[in-house]
Amino acid sequence: MFVTDLHHFLDLPEDTPGPARRLAEHLGNIVRAATAGDAATAWQTALPCRRRPANRRCPGRMIVQRAEPDAPIRWNCSVCDDDGVISNWKDTPFDLRRRQLTLAGDVHQILIADEVAAALRELRLLDPDSERLVFAIRGHTDGAILTATDDDLDELIGAVAAEANHESNRRRQQRLDAAFDALNAAQTANGT
Ligand SMILES: [Zn+2]
Repeated sequence: MFVTDLHHFLDLPEDTPGPARRLAEHLGNIVRAATAGDAATAWQTALPCRRRPANRRCPGRMIVQRAEPDAPIRWNCSVCDDDGVISNWKDTPFDLRRRQLTLAGDVHQILIADEVAAALRELRLLDPDSERLVFAIRGHTDGAILTATDDDLDELIGAVAAEANHESNRRRQQRLDAAFDALNAAQTANGT
């Protein structure tokens, strides 16, 4: 079991090597999912496993559980035996717990491709509500499930459009455009 204190992965110095940086990002994403989604029960996120046995990406996804409000976050892969515990995540920038109650409208379950879920995780300028939405995305056999109200979806589409407009990297812009199209199609299907 991989036991980590999230505080050791915050504010990494500029010269931190790539593998350590990617590990920090992976752990941060697990904390964001665990604090954005359901507490109490273990659930399967859309986050891919970081392992590459025999140089092939493990097809598993991260299953997370935050058993008690302040307890360490447990995670494990849905396929391989990678698992761990993350402590000291409270009140870090990755802690997405809701600070206030919000009124929810009709909630839609939207099936999106894994690539779209990954593009949404890369968005840099999300407000806390949209970030919570993105990291609460669940893993599914055919991709990933985004749970959102019409208003949530509007906000998210706006954020994707704004970021795509300002993106100078062509490949990243294409990923954002694809995410924009997928969310728009879902919104049209909802009849809004
Ligand atoms: Zn795995």
